[in-house]
Amino acid sequence: MDQSVRAEHVPVLIIGCGFGGMALAIELKNNGINDFVILERASDIGGVWRDNTYPGAACDVVSRFYSFSCDQDYEWSQPFAPQTEIWEYALKVVERHGIRPHVRFNTEVRDASFDERTGMWTVDTSVGTRFTTPILVSAVGLFNHANIPNIPGRDDYKGVSFHSSNWNHDFPLAGKTVAVIGCGASAVQFIPKIAPQVEKLVLYQRSPQYVMPKAIFPGASEFDAWLQKRKWLRGLARLKVYLMFERFILRRRIFPNARLKGEAAFRALLERKVKDPELRKKLTPNYPMGCKRQLVSDHWYDTLTRPNVEVVTEPISRMDASGVVTGDGKHHSFDAVIYGTGFTPTTYLTPMVIKGLNGRDLNEAWRNGAEAYLGITVTGFPNFFMLYGPNTNAPSSIIFMLECQSRYVVNAIKTLQARRARYMNVRADRQRDFNVEAQARLSTTIPARADCFTYFKDPSGKITTNWPGYATEYRWRTRAVKSRDYEFTPS
Ligand SMILES: Cc1cc2nc3c(=O)[nH]c(=O)nc-3n(C[C@H](O)[C@H](O)[C@H](O)COP(=O)(O)OP(=O)(O)OC[C@H]3O[C@@H](n4cnc5c(N)ncnc54)[C@H](O)[C@@H]3O)c2cc1C
Repeated sequence: MDQSVRAEHVPVLIIGCGFGGMALAIELKNNGINDFVILERASDIGGVWRDNTYPGAACDVVSRFYSFSCDQDYEWSQPFAPQTEIWEYALKVVERHGIRPHVRFNTEVRDASFDERTGMWTVDTSVGTRFTTPILVSAVGLFNHANIPNIPGRDDYKGVSFHSSNWNHDFPLAGKTVAVIGCGASAVQFIPKIAPQVEKLVLYQRSPQYVMPKAIFPGASEFDAWLQKRKWLRGLARLKVYLMFERFILRRRIFPNARLKGEAAFRALLERKVKDPELRKKLTPNYPMGCKRQLVSDHWYDTLTRPNVEVVTEPISRMDASGVVTGDGKHHSFDAVIYGTGFTPTTYLTPMVIKGLNGRDLNEAWRNGAEAYLGITVTGFPNFFMLYGPNTNAPSSIIFMLECQSRYVVNAIKTLQARRARYMNVRADRQRDFNVEAQARLSTTIPARADCFTYFKDPSGKITTNWPGYATEYRWRTRAVKSRDYEFTPS
């Protein structure tokens, strides 16, 4: 071993301290497992809620539900809390549960490999420390790699440019000309905030979104807001939102054409809000509702009809030193270009290199699309667990899913201890059966349609992100580690 590399052994090693790493830390502590380390590449906790500080950043799930089930002691100022509050909540949770001392900040995991003989993972980091651990858990999230489009001439642009997840707060946008490229979930939140300040905003839109008002979302009624404010009714308020999401999935199953009603409501909203037929046409999606994540805003269409806002649907052909050129040859100069182009969720754990049994590379194992058993374990990668892994993206609160996964991981650790096993490896047939079932179910959903282009799918068209069923089903299926799903190798 290189003499400059420091070695350290830990019983449980977690990568990432967003809500996923925090959920597992809480579960470990609740089960008396206090000896664990979290490696976090950034200088603080919080994951996406630390990084996405753009104006208007907020939850699109009611916060009473988008929060830890065991930590409801927080007064949200509004049903869909802003990023500042969510991050503050995360900081409080970390303090309340004594998680911070377990975290090594500014420490990025580069690669990890499994030694069959010892049953240990060896994990190399950016700071030169090499960890060994019998239990390795990835909690790196799905939205931590910004997707910046490869536009010809992008690097020639001399103005200010940044991605929404890396907002440049030092550059005042007031009175400036601004291009926004892309209109994903973040752009729908920040454009209404910056449009009133800037001189001119041009939105380069590849594909319009279905954006609906907050009031129609689970838990957003006035009665819900009343419930959510009452300390002693918080549990009930939360349960109600949970059940509303489940009812939404049930309705979609029983009445597959219910989306047509949703699309009609959307068209009526657009008619009401956007009087210019040409703009209305630009803003009307040519794909079915449900193809992408449903977006929420009360100000989106009012913003796009402002006199200082223009929506351009002509594709961008290139950028130059001063701005953007579209396919029709039109050139616009800008003081700033903001990328609202989202993330690359289907790349999952990259750029980390994870090597399991016989040195098999996880990226290689996933060359036909990421898959795992229950989104948590992968055959050939013993004692390696994932939070927010493949096919666990739910339409409701991801924190609920992370809590299910954390319980499962702790259950797996206890199972290993009880069996005195060196390692557990999910059976290939169990993983295959699970994924055949998941893909069969997903193939009947809207995102599977050929006319649906969405980040839920990988480049081959396989839906690798979404959970196919109810949140309750996920809770049930992850309630305990079943011995028949795993091969256990004795110590
Ligand atoms: C702008 C935005 C809004 C969202 N809104 C909602 C919402 O309203 N409702 C909802 O349910 N979900 C929402 N999501 C999804 C969100 O990702 C999840 O809800 C949740 O925050 C995921 O937590 P996580 O811990 O799994 O991942 P993250 O929050 O991404 O945290 C992962 C952590 O791992 C660290 N990390 C990554 N790689 C390494 C490495 N190699 N070594 C060390 N550390 C590493 C990162 O720095 C980060 O701190 C949103 C996502 C974004 C980007």
